[in-house]
Amino acid sequence: MPRGLTALQESSPEGGGSDYIRNIKLLDDREFTTLRFLTDAENLYYESFHRNMVDGAFKGFKVCLKSTGQPCPMCAMKDNRPSTQFLAWVYEYDHFFQAPTENAEEVTLGKSKSRKAYKRTVNEIRLMRYSNAHRGGLVGAVEEYDTLTDRTFKWVRDGKRGSTRPTYDLRSLKEGAIPDELKLLAETLPDLEEVAFGRTERLDGAPAEEQKEKIEKYATRDVSPDTSVDGDDDNDDTPYDDDEDDGPF
Ligand SMILES: [Zn+2]
Repeated sequence: MPRGLTALQESSPEGGGSDYIRNIKLLDDREFTTLRFLTDAENLYYESFHRNMVDGAFKGFKVCLKSTGQPCPMCAMKDNRPSTQFLAWVYEYDHFFQAPTENAEEVTLGKSKSRKAYKRTVNEIRLMRYSNAHRGGLVGAVEEYDTLTDRTFKWVRDGKRGSTRPTYDLRSLKEGAIPDELKLLAETLPDLEEVAFGRTERLDGAPAEEQKEKIEKYATRDVSPDTSVDGDDDNDDTPYDDDEDDGPF
């Protein structure tokens, strides 16, 4: 029996919930993920964003229209200064949690195998979307290797859950060219500008408008409107990464 939007989307012919763009998200101290960049340094997308607050609720980020040369109504709002973020496509391999987590198995880390972690195999495309303040690791990697795409990396959070000032460390893991199948997959991904402007929220680049229609269609079938629409099983109730932790950028 369908349990809301996610279930409906999963059973839909298009393949469903997993098609929604999901962000790399590290929420706790020492949580990390292993990944590969599909977007190289010269194609990272930088843009200035406002937090889109609707009735006090965070509804994702909106591009500051000033950066397109237009007047920006959001700039006129109180306490909503725009901030720069960078966007990149990555392929996430494994996600390591510090505490027992659903769909994650206990593993040991480090040379002495004395550190425990909980590993979840992901193997999916993710959007890396962070405040410009966190670009340092990427800049360092490019200085070192001239590219982001010739190796896998570990992306580690330093900063306990809820911290207003976490930092992120990018460490080289293993050198090696992008596997062909990932290269092909990367070519099918929507332009980062389309994502930044909210014109698509899906990996296949389907227009966001179509998605809204779908949601309306499901809503009329008595499906709970509270259900996640991004197929995320992490109690995430928006398709966006509310990077609340980072405080003012
Ligand atoms: Zn603005």
